[in-house]
Amino acid sequence: MLGSLNQIKTEFIEIGKRLYDKGFVPGSSGNISFKAQNEILVTASGCCLGELTEDDIITVDPDGNLPGRHGKPSSERFMHTEIYKRRPGINCIIHAHPPKSTALSVAGVDLKAPLIAEAVVTMGEIPLIQYQTPSTLELATLIADNFIDHDAVLMANHGATVCGKGLKKTFYKLETLEFLSEIYIITAMLNNRNEIPQEKIGELLKIREKMES
Ligand SMILES: [Zn+2]
Repeated sequence: MLGSLNQIKTEFIEIGKRLYDKGFVPGSSGNISFKAQNEILVTASGCCLGELTEDDIITVDPDGNLPGRHGKPSSERFMHTEIYKRRPGINCIIHAHPPKSTALSVAGVDLKAPLIAEAVVTMGEIPLIQYQTPSTLELATLIADNFIDHDAVLMANHGATVCGKGLKKTFYKLETLEFLSEIYIITAMLNNRNEIPQEKIGELLKIREKMES
């Protein structure tokens, strides 16, 4: 277990760097979590995800509390713990502020329309939830309720959150979400946007069902 915990921490550091290098978590924004058995690892409050060290990865209990341990976990951790309670099958959550997805959230746009096959297969419909103050229980509850039926959620005037199995696969989902947002914005500039035909959606949803989160 110790070996695999070290491995997970190494992966946290790698994924944090990729998120930062991609511009998905400017400054000290964003947070990553991973559920390992009855504990949740979450990034520390106020740290830059591009410069994570092992000390910046804090262990909390399933309610987000620190059982007598050191460190200051992200204030947005309750969003993560509430999602895990509603989605027992997933073990990773990434919350970020990718510019194009965040721009859509500011514009009040959701990504429910089927535009790109890969996005439909990996995430399905992506809703936009109304604005709530960051780090509040209201935000944690609202976003977690939306994750019951979705793998990715846009958060109005804030950013985006994705869930999945494994740190890398969850990171790839966020990357696909940002790509989808970019395509949405470019097609707005082209003043034309064709959706995937309705009669073809069923085939994609069948592939989605076969895939793991
Ligand atoms: Zn945030």
